[in-house]
Amino acid sequence: MSYKLFIPGPIAVSERTLRAMTRPMIGHRSSDFVALYQAIQPKLQSLFFTRDPVYLATSSAWGVMEGAVRNLCRRKVLNCMNGAFSDKWNDVALRCGRAAGALRFDWGKPVDPEALRRELATGAYDCVTLIHNETSTGTMSDLPAIAAVLREFPDVISIVDTVSSFSVVPIEKDQLGIDVIITGSQKALALPPGLALVTVSARALARAATSPDRGYYFDFVEFQKNHEQGMTPSTPVIPLVYALQSKLEDIEAEGVAARYARHLRLNERLRAWGAAHGFSLFPEARYGSRSLNCFANAAGYDLAALNKTLKSKHGLVIDGGYGKLKGKTFRISNMGDETDETIGDLIAALDNALASTPRGVAPS
Ligand SMILES: *Cc1c(COP(=O)(O)O)cnc(C)c1O
Repeated sequence: MSYKLFIPGPIAVSERTLRAMTRPMIGHRSSDFVALYQAIQPKLQSLFFTRDPVYLATSSAWGVMEGAVRNLCRRKVLNCMNGAFSDKWNDVALRCGRAAGALRFDWGKPVDPEALRRELATGAYDCVTLIHNETSTGTMSDLPAIAAVLREFPDVISIVDTVSSFSVVPIEKDQLGIDVIITGSQKALALPPGLALVTVSARALARAATSPDRGYYFDFVEFQKNHEQGMTPSTPVIPLVYALQSKLEDIEAEGVAARYARHLRLNERLRAWGAAHGFSLFPEARYGSRSLNCFANAAGYDLAALNKTLKSKHGLVIDGGYGKLKGKTFRISNMGDETDETIGDLIAALDNALASTPRGVAPS
């Protein structure tokens, strides 16, 4: 039962990363841990394009996505919704007992900066959530255009999820003026699941300090207090911190510009493969994600059969569509450590498997 994942998370983890995780445990209050934490901090700040601290939370991304709302929403949060993850953020805010507005766009559409401006102009909101790269639909919103709108509303704290775009394309936090950026370990960073990373601006931290109902586990103020000592509030997932350190070395060795270029090249190559088979992107091409491609299954291929062949014959797995797009779209990740060679192998396997895949299953 050994196969390689090309689903948009979790994704394949390199042998080098896995080996890094097997180092002996250290105490999370020891000077060894402090040295580890402080050594990776500047590298993380550089990848996030920020001078703000980067906190490490032991949870999947949702832990911090919920935590950010609890820390930062005092009056009302506006949730930009254009896919499964961003839709759920609204539900999460409501479950946290917050007043939450829904700014809805069709699945596959990006967040529209003009619509955002109109809604924020009502003055009803003190924070905004949005997802840069909606993984469910393979849609990447225009973050610089959105950030320009957000900067017109200095009292509104911006919370941006970059779970599947972090380190795929440059996201220049401080220059864009974004308050909070969240990412997770098992997508663009190609680590196993279980670690979330979040960088928080000083004004967001000041807001958090006045929020009465922010809990403990994801309390940004606790994170900051511990950060100043080179530590985390509770015992972190130390093997994943080792893995993160190793990944940061990989990124440094490749060079971040080369990493962005590699993602773009492999993403384009898969798009070209799709186009040659009559698969257009589900979103408009200019808003297509650069870390995955979400193709419309217009030809009505039996995606379950396709994946079965891919897995049993080639040891590869792609995704057959998320939620209500199951069967109507399929998604292929090019995140993490993929190379021209591994994507070439995937394409050869896809061609081989497609040839024996039944079609005509009407995508309802
Ligand atoms: C996967 C994903 C999440 C959720 O991450 P978990 O690690 O499962 O909590 C959130 N946002 C985006 C954009 C994602 O792709």
